[in-house]
Amino acid sequence: MEQVTLGSTGITVNKNGFGALPIQRITDEDAVHLVRKAYDAGITFFDTARFYTDSEEKLGIALEGIRDKVFVATKTAASNAKEFFEQLETSLHNLRTDYVDIYQFHNPAVCPKPGDGSGLYEAMLEAKEKGMIRHIGITNHRLAVADEAIESGLYETLQFPFCYLASDQDIALVEKCKEKNMGFIAMKALSGGLITNSRAAYAFEAQYDNVLPIWGVQREKELDEFISYIEHPPVMTDEIKALIEADRRELSGEFCRGCGYCMPCPAGIEINNCARMSLLLRRSPSELQLTKEVQEKMKKIENCLHCGHCKSKCPYGLDTPALLEKNYEDYKRVLAGEVSVK
Ligand code: SF4
Ligand code: SF4
Repeated sequence: MEQVTLGSTGITVNKNGFGALPIQRITDEDAVHLVRKAYDAGITFFDTARFYTDSEEKLGIALEGIRDKVFVATKTAASNAKEFFEQLETSLHNLRTDYVDIYQFHNPAVCPKPGDGSGLYEAMLEAKEKGMIRHIGITNHRLAVADEAIESGLYETLQFPFCYLASDQDIALVEKCKEKNMGFIAMKALSGGLITNSRAAYAFEAQYDNVLPIWGVQREKELDEFISYIEHPPVMTDEIKALIEADRRELSGEFCRGCGYCMPCPAGIEINNCARMSLLLRRSPSELQLTKEVQEKMKKIENCLHCGHCKSKCPYGLDTPALLEKNYEDYKRVLAGEVSVK
């Protein structure tokens, strides 16, 4: 069984963490079943967020009676101290607990620091003194903010996207966290659904002993795959290396990572999914993308104002409106049966 210690927090858990974002989409009963099954199999790290609608509540129900045997991380997107404490109180209530193991700033645009005028970091310290939280963490999608958080020495954990499509700069962040004894929690280890080989995804993460991937699971079948890796952790082989190389080639260039930086869109377009629809259609079960609901979301691309906001905010330098258009054209062809997908 492979374990990971999250830097100075001392939190040591199985290398398979549970990402509780997707349980928003399933019933209370199914969510409780998944969480308890994960726990029974040896998974003891659960990550959620105040803004994952009812994810905290579902986790709270599922962890009733075993709270002291697991670690719970949640997040706040508060912009001032008042909001911070309101959100923390709500999270504690929903999670049915009186402390959070790791409380994280949720993808802030700038790295909160003492004396920056927001009062946010001071609120973290106060919450820690009061015993409401045990460790202070930060999540981010921006390299610059993540780097600043590491350099600041103010945070015990960083949560950042990290999968086998990672750039050298992403890998450098992981290494820097290790040097600074800071925990690294890997989100989007399946790149938001574009990586479909969980064995390869795990083998990649296994190369970094300070990284804890949190797998976002919604279906029991997916959970079962990760549970099987507790006893039999996949290792990097030539075959997996070749598969990763092929994926890196396919997913290079004009490839939307689904990070959502470019949002919100004034035309209400769900850019982070619509701009990579062609890949989602081909790399995951296409029926999930052809529902009436998704068709309506794709149709909104017709309302694009070409304001350029998204393009200017994309950290990958993508021409987002053009990418949306391209994906929409392809989507219409798939719907019309002119192009087949799996
Ligand atoms: S260019 Fe189009 S997709 Fe991009 S933000 Fe403006 S309206 Fe939204
Ligand atoms: S277009 Fe760029 S910013 Fe928007 S979701 Fe995709 S990768 Fe992220």
